[in-house]
Amino acid sequence: MAGKPQVPAEWVDGFLILGNQLALDFLNTQPALEDGLQELLPDLQALERWLLAAGILSSTAAATPLRRWRDSPRAEAFLRKLHAFREALRREVIRQERGLPISESFLEELNQLLEQHPSRMAVQRHAKQLSLNVVFEPREPEDIWAPIAAAAADLLSGVPKDRVRKCESESCVLHFYDTSKKGSRRWCSMSLCGNKVKVAAYQKRNRGT
Ligand SMILES: [Zn+2]
Repeated sequence: MAGKPQVPAEWVDGFLILGNQLALDFLNTQPALEDGLQELLPDLQALERWLLAAGILSSTAAATPLRRWRDSPRAEAFLRKLHAFREALRREVIRQERGLPISESFLEELNQLLEQHPSRMAVQRHAKQLSLNVVFEPREPEDIWAPIAAAAADLLSGVPKDRVRKCESESCVLHFYDTSKKGSRRWCSMSLCGNKVKVAAYQKRNRGT
């Protein structure tokens, strides 16, 4: 293992996968890094890689039909809408974290997406077992709405509100679903923020004495 760069487990192929929930990992595709907010989904190529990193796509082969849309005006238009939806979702998540209800206009937008881009289910055979699974085989950029809208719907209706939080580090914009037993998670991750904040607090204490 000597000489191997130390990459914390929360980074998967250049994306932060630490939200414990797909819609939160989607929100976290615009993290605040050292040189400000970083757009991790600038184009369709990046989005394909994120779909793989997040486990929505099971293989690079499944992304092949999307390749012909790369750099097309349609993909660009789709990405603009996707970014806008992500920011609208962020506003709602922050509202919810402050104890406010989800806005009617956002629910309407989300329900429209769910109606226009339903998730396809199929019974699949694995060895001798049958299981009901979501099938995601995107043919065009807009198909990507299905898993995104389903994840946002799950976040707002299926996840306990008090377990969705922003990282306590002031400069951090990452949100997570706290699945710890005690519900005491404070940071997006110890290596990204937890240690930094602890070191700063320690230094402040020491300066004070
Ligand atoms: Zn953080």
